[in-house]
Amino acid sequence: MKDTFTHKGMRKKLVDTLRKKGITNEEVLKAIQNIPRHWFMDSGFVDHAYVDKAFPIAAEQTISQPYTVARQTELLEITAGDTVLEIGTGSGYQSAVLLEMGVTVYTIERQNELFKKTSLFLPKIGYRPKKMVFGDGYKGLPEFAPFNGIVVTAGAPFVPKPLLAQLKIGGRLVIPVGEEVQIMTVFTRTSGTHFEKAEHGEFRFVPLLEDKN
Ligand code: SAH
Repeated sequence: MKDTFTHKGMRKKLVDTLRKKGITNEEVLKAIQNIPRHWFMDSGFVDHAYVDKAFPIAAEQTISQPYTVARQTELLEITAGDTVLEIGTGSGYQSAVLLEMGVTVYTIERQNELFKKTSLFLPKIGYRPKKMVFGDGYKGLPEFAPFNGIVVTAGAPFVPKPLLAQLKIGGRLVIPVGEEVQIMTVFTRTSGTHFEKAEHGEFRFVPLLEDKN
């Protein structure tokens, strides 16, 4: 797999676009500048890797739009050394962004085909999550909790309680909530029993599905 000057140049333009759309976290932008997103795309879509759009990957799933990945990562408000749980591994691109930022990553995928493909692919290109799990993200990963951040990369019809319970105090759950359209919602754990909620606009995701497949 190649990463040419042309690819790097296209990524620079993508980063400029993300800045114009309001992304300000320099660590997030640097990660996007560094990661060859075209490696994560199915061959038919490689030419579109640096357009700010979502694209199909295996098993009727999508690689999220770069703006969406950037925005969700920014909303986590994490720094190097933090631990993040991702729900919906998909292509592995969001995991790679977190790993580039020096974060320890746990990630769950419910689609077996994608799980197998991505768990081979990510280490091959040098990105090593602490754990990649084939399982149901609604349940989180209680055995490795608590986390500084949890990011859900599929549209959730409701907020799964186990995910809130697996946040550290001060930690954040970034979750798109809704059926057809989702509201990007952030829950910050302020104490053992209290959470602050903030909303950050409309997005569209593939659905968060129950159980593994
Ligand atoms: N983060 C991914 C985005 C993938 S799209 C990326 O960067 O490419 C959302 C993913 O969530 C899909 O792969 C889908 O199979 C997965 N998913 C849906 N419901 C899930 C669940 N309950 N648990 C874990 N993964 C789930």
